[in-house]
Amino acid sequence: MRKIAVLTSGGDAPGMNAAIRAVVRKGIFENLEVYGVSHGYEGLINNQIKKMELGDVGDIIHRGGTKLYSARSEEFLTLAGQNKAVANLKNLGIEGLIVIGGDGSYRGASRLSELGIKTIGIPATIDNDIAGTNETIGYDTALNTIVDMIDKIRDTATSHERTFIIEVMGRDSGQLALNAGLAAGAETIFIPERQTKMSDVAARIQSGLERGKKHSLIVLAEGVMSAESCSLELGKYINIETRLSVLGHIQRGGKPTAKDRVLGSRFGAYAVELLLDGQTDVGTSIKDDKMYFVELKSVYNQKKNYDSSIYQLSKELSI
Ligand code: ADP
Repeated sequence: MRKIAVLTSGGDAPGMNAAIRAVVRKGIFENLEVYGVSHGYEGLINNQIKKMELGDVGDIIHRGGTKLYSARSEEFLTLAGQNKAVANLKNLGIEGLIVIGGDGSYRGASRLSELGIKTIGIPATIDNDIAGTNETIGYDTALNTIVDMIDKIRDTATSHERTFIIEVMGRDSGQLALNAGLAAGAETIFIPERQTKMSDVAARIQSGLERGKKHSLIVLAEGVMSAESCSLELGKYINIETRLSVLGHIQRGGKPTAKDRVLGSRFGAYAVELLLDGQTDVGTSIKDDKMYFVELKSVYNQKKNYDSSIYQLSKELSI
């Protein structure tokens, strides 16, 4: 293999830049030509493919977002779109492609592999909802951002003796809500993986009030319901005023943590090694701090498990 390409696709995540940098530099170190594709699969279809040099990835390791831009592509869902993408890569003599993204991006990468391009996925999403790997790029940064925000909300919740409902991202996954809730000492955590009875939440708040505790933090994963619905539901069981805070896109931005930069760098370099080994249709993965690869199909056909012991612990520590 002489020429490879890299793209970022789907939702952006802090640490994607560290992975792009590692792919480019490790590729050049291995005497490959490395091409950057802008705007994900949309850029692949529109031939936005440029050769990258060492300096093109200078000064990006500490930046959030993605230097290559990310996009969602409707056209790439069609066979005609996929064929255009393959033709553009083949015209440039590119045999291998590294796709940095989430579940949807992995499905796209699998299609390209079926059409004759060797593809490697790198898991990147703040939601940490990709099976087959303990962590995804961006999760640690988002978790720290959320905990920082909740700490700030706690100050005002304590001062004004209020109950706050804090809605956090995660799509169908409760990983961010669960671990941020534990780290920030929330009284209640709602995650899609577990049923939480509103009557129990109200009873806990009531017993807290009776003990003289006047503020409470509820962390709510967006996949359960909106903060507004949660407040309305809770109001059916207890007569308290709640304040709502939807953290929103703040959670996706910002400087990547050291952990995400290290993870991005390791995944990026490992993905190049996998291409050189002749692998395709696989994704990088980390378990017990070691690099592995897993079949892309096994990743997107499974739901990631959550750690029920963390849920239990958060309940035990917030009595
Ligand atoms: P993420 O990768 O973060 O999960 P998306 O689900 O939006 O984000 O997927 C990113 C892009 O991957 C989509 O816009 C689309 O172009 C491509 N994609 C998603 N699902 C498929 C699929 N089943 N087949 C081919 N391409 C897909």
